[in-house]
Amino acid sequence: MTTEAVTHTTLGDGSIAELAETLRGELIGPDDPRYDEARAIWNGAHDRRPTLIARCAGVADVTRAVEFARSEDLVVAVRGGGHSIPGFSTCDGGIVIDLSPMRGIRVDPETRTARAQPGLTWSEFDHETQAFGLAVTGGLVSSTGIAGFTLGGGIGWLMREHGLACDNLVSADVVTADGRLVHASADENAELFWGLRGGGGNFGIATSLEYRVHPVGPTVLAGAVFYPGERAAEILRFYREWTEAAPDELTTLVSLATAPPAPFLPEEWHGRPVVVIPALYAGPLQDGERAVRALRELGDPVADLIGPMPYTAMQSLLDPLWAPGAHNYFKAGWLRGLDDEAIETLVRYHRNVTSPTTEIHVHHMGGAVARVPADATAFGDRRAPFLLNITASTPTADGYGEAVAWAQELHGAISPALTGGAYVNFLSAEGPERVQAAYGADTYARLVALKDAFDPTNVFQLNQNIPPSRS
Ligand SMILES: Cc1cc2nc3c(=O)[nH]c(=O)nc-3n(C[C@H](O)[C@H](O)[C@H](O)COP(=O)(O)OP(=O)(O)OC[C@H]3O[C@@H](n4cnc5c(N)ncnc54)[C@H](O)[C@@H]3O)c2cc1C
Repeated sequence: MTTEAVTHTTLGDGSIAELAETLRGELIGPDDPRYDEARAIWNGAHDRRPTLIARCAGVADVTRAVEFARSEDLVVAVRGGGHSIPGFSTCDGGIVIDLSPMRGIRVDPETRTARAQPGLTWSEFDHETQAFGLAVTGGLVSSTGIAGFTLGGGIGWLMREHGLACDNLVSADVVTADGRLVHASADENAELFWGLRGGGGNFGIATSLEYRVHPVGPTVLAGAVFYPGERAAEILRFYREWTEAAPDELTTLVSLATAPPAPFLPEEWHGRPVVVIPALYAGPLQDGERAVRALRELGDPVADLIGPMPYTAMQSLLDPLWAPGAHNYFKAGWLRGLDDEAIETLVRYHRNVTSPTTEIHVHHMGGAVARVPADATAFGDRRAPFLLNITASTPTADGYGEAVAWAQELHGAISPALTGGAYVNFLSAEGPERVQAAYGADTYARLVALKDAFDPTNVFQLNQNIPPSRS
């Protein structure tokens, strides 16, 4: 590594060289030709310049990188799939502990468990588990990393039948702030295990995640139906009633969007407002057909793409709309319900959206998510019937500020319908009060106690941070 790298920090050549020598993986600095590619994360809105990127090959590298960061007092960013919306998986001037080379997975079809390393994305995870007809709740976009997703909760197409991703976590290995490797499960470090399921990356770096996996597909009834945007109010009112009786196997959301120029949509609809309802039925195909019939019979859809398809195809169906590099901002909250006023607000903002790639999502929750007792995991709110996620997006910085302002304004306008809580994986960098509100007072107090025990100096602070009580 040349001196160019060290001009960004007070680190000496010697200590950087020593770190490089003791890693099995690679150490990348600003003078490395791979630096720009290595520092990029999914959200193009965050253009940060870390001093070092430690691409870890295994647990020993992670432990070494944590020790190094502590001894040199470096800011630590932890990166798995790199899909943090607020950009927590990169930093200016510190060290990125990059787990993306750690992509091993072992599926045990006998015990229906899968032990996976934190660099895996959902597309890779699904590929391996589906070879045995198994799956667990994964991301709606298959390039999302399994680790950040699971530690924050993890909502996806299987959640109403099989729970959140974190509900299916059986155990995890964690490198703590003091460089120890601990195992967390219901029987060992049980409080840490509780906090890992919803508390995000606050307590250490998960180097192995063991999941319970379930028989799914390989062919499922899934897809999306598109209706004209001018029918948004009618469709949302229908959705409010229809979801009340929806079976647990069925997970759906409503997206108020702009029709992309996709070959599966009639050309005259490209660029026009649409209501999209993607759906997946995690059960027998015929039962699924019955479960989605009313949704498909509202009449005159722009397109109806629901049908039998491989589970992995549904998992990647939305990928083309969520390519890396665009500028993205999420503003989210739990909806108490979908009253007429809330629907009117959503429809009004859909009409004046500032960018064609910006969307408003209403996720139907409940089912298995709501059946888990509130104190069984650190996940914030399991009782809200719907989750609102306003996803402001522009291809470049052009128009981004306007899109963010629009999202914040919509969030303000609909706040009477929100619980005040939040899902941490959809939060932007919104400050400590919002993180507290996301968890609620009791869970938050328990998380602070756990933080005191495992990370009393807040080494892991680039996350939806739970500061230790001494800070
Ligand atoms: C396109 C897109 C689609 C999404 N879809 C969904 C969805 O369907 N459902 C849903 O619930 N969420 C979704 N999310 C949100 C997603 O769950 C979070 O952004 C999550 O943090 C991503 O995990 P990652 O490993 O890819 O992220 P990274 O950016 O790599 O990590 C994010 C943070 O997670 C923590 N972290 C990551 N790995 C570890 C680890 N091994 N140990 C400890 N901490 C770690 C760190 O604090 C890190 O800063 C989506 C995000 C995007 C960008």
